[in-house]
Amino acid sequence: MNPFLELGIRHEVVNAITEIGFEKPSPIQEKAIPVLLTGNDDFVGLAQTGTGKTAAFGLPLLELIDFSQKHPQALVLCPTRELCLQIAKDIEKFAKFIDNVNVVAVYGGANISDQLRQIRRGVQIVVATPGRMLDIIGRNAIDFSNVKYVVLDEADEMLNMGFQEDINNILSETPDTKKTWLFSATMPREVRRIAQNYMSNPFELTVGTKNTGNANIEHHYYLIKAKDKYAAFKRIVDFYPEIFGIVFCRTKIETQEIAEALVRDGYNADSLHGDLSQQQRDKVMKRYRDRSLQLLIATDVAARGIDVNDVTHVINFSLPDEVENYTHRSGRTARAGKTGISLSLVNVKELSKIRHIEKIIGKSFEKKEVPQGTEVCEKQLFALVDKVHNVDINEEQIAPFLPKIMESMEDLSKEDIIKRFASLEFNRFLEYYQNAPDLNIEAREGAGRERGDRDDRRSRQGSKGYTRLFMNLGSVDEFSRGDMLGFICNTAKISGKSIGKIDLKGVFTFFEVEDAEVNRVFDGFKDIDFNGRQVRIEVSGEGGGRSEGGRGGRPRGGDRGPRSGGGDRRDRNRGERSGGGSRGGERREGGFRDFSGKRQGSRSKY
Ligand code: AMP
Repeated sequence: MNPFLELGIRHEVVNAITEIGFEKPSPIQEKAIPVLLTGNDDFVGLAQTGTGKTAAFGLPLLELIDFSQKHPQALVLCPTRELCLQIAKDIEKFAKFIDNVNVVAVYGGANISDQLRQIRRGVQIVVATPGRMLDIIGRNAIDFSNVKYVVLDEADEMLNMGFQEDINNILSETPDTKKTWLFSATMPREVRRIAQNYMSNPFELTVGTKNTGNANIEHHYYLIKAKDKYAAFKRIVDFYPEIFGIVFCRTKIETQEIAEALVRDGYNADSLHGDLSQQQRDKVMKRYRDRSLQLLIATDVAARGIDVNDVTHVINFSLPDEVENYTHRSGRTARAGKTGISLSLVNVKELSKIRHIEKIIGKSFEKKEVPQGTEVCEKQLFALVDKVHNVDINEEQIAPFLPKIMESMEDLSKEDIIKRFASLEFNRFLEYYQNAPDLNIEAREGAGRERGDRDDRRSRQGSKGYTRLFMNLGSVDEFSRGDMLGFICNTAKISGKSIGKIDLKGVFTFFEVEDAEVNRVFDGFKDIDFNGRQVRIEVSGEGGGRSEGGRGGRPRGGDRGPRSGGGDRRDRNRGERSGGGSRGGERREGGFRDFSGKRQGSRSKY
């Protein structure tokens, strides 16, 4: 038997939610539905967003309401327009096979006459944001005298947004006999007070541990220098090629600046903040929902009520001033039983904030290392390989071109083709990252010593008496370490004893050469080709330094050709034009405004 039927939900509703894909109740649904279905209890549910709260109260409402009557019997109050629309839409979907169900969404920023018209036509369930609801009450346009159930959804958010008084006024319009069901992700004193003032002996339910948030969220932090924050952020984003994230900043200006910088650097990003008109906000949200945006840069207030599933990462570009907000932020990922990562970029001074949040949420943060350039390259390479594996092939469309393509590839072996296709996309990452410094800071708290400086120096200089060089050939070119040693010695005409450590990577290699022999290596590799590719040698870590082979100085992706030069993320992933900068040689690390300094007038509760 369907488990929702066992909980007491009628067949019509079970059929509708089965269509949506609900197979079994989520934990909060399993516990709340039997209690709420009695219709006799006030209720307090401590649950994060994304746990299935809407159905936890929506399904019981559909059982308890008399749909042959046309007056309001249930009022759902929630903090934002997005949530309001979402809840109304969800309830309508659950009620798809029940006759005469009328739900109205009442929210600000939209035409009030349409909403009034819908109310006049007769509704049983009103889903509303507090401000617009009061407006409508003020016009005597709604009769709440028969309301039996009031749901306060995301009560903590509503109070955060200053709706306390509005809620009081709205509730005073409803009969004393009504039942109140309150849902909240956190339980600050103010929410507790609502429960005390408006409920009698409510049934209390906690899903997960108090304040700990969702167990499916991993909390990470990266310790970096304040000035490297943007560079570290981009590196982390590049390390997760499939990232679909929300990036939190503290101010509107910060969101705008980061979004603009990201677009310039070729990412799909846009900002969401309080100064946008409703129309602009809707547009940004639509792009994000449709996945045309990969990164949404938002302030805390603007991000309230965002209920997009499958957000993989919440990124705290700046930590929130108040710990409660950290819980709200991280709750935007790991929805509907999925897993997610909430990561924070912090400098040494901010470590105490992390410790404080850990205490409050009762969970430890894992310290992560900002990936090295080489690691990013490897990750991107294999993401590319996966993409090639999984791409949908339109046989019909491509068929007419195949003979010609085959003909032009005839002289290439399978290995050649694989290497070429990988290099085509991948070289840009490689070139961008090959000299990228270590951005991590020594873990010793408070010490603030930058490991990047130390490792950088080491990597640039190699072991004592040796110089570390870069070569654009690696294991994908079928070199073993021994082969590479032989190749260097034969080409540069130097003894194997002059070669130090050889660090063979996928598509490149670092190797150490005795300082006295460095010039012979550069001379020996002048104009050397390997399988049709010019071999390039550079001193590792010397961006604009000496190099031989393909180009001098820091590689800027100049050989990418006009087409691939425009290959930003949108081009590559979605076939859209972006207007943003290219993703390859133009990308910049660092050199970005430092956002992490003290903000005047900001409240800090850490
Ligand atoms: P909510 O917390 O109500 O916003 O729900 C979060 C997401 O989980 C929504 O996309 C729901 O459609 C989905 N969801 C809720 N209940 C279930 C369930 N029992 N099975 C599968 N998905 C669910």
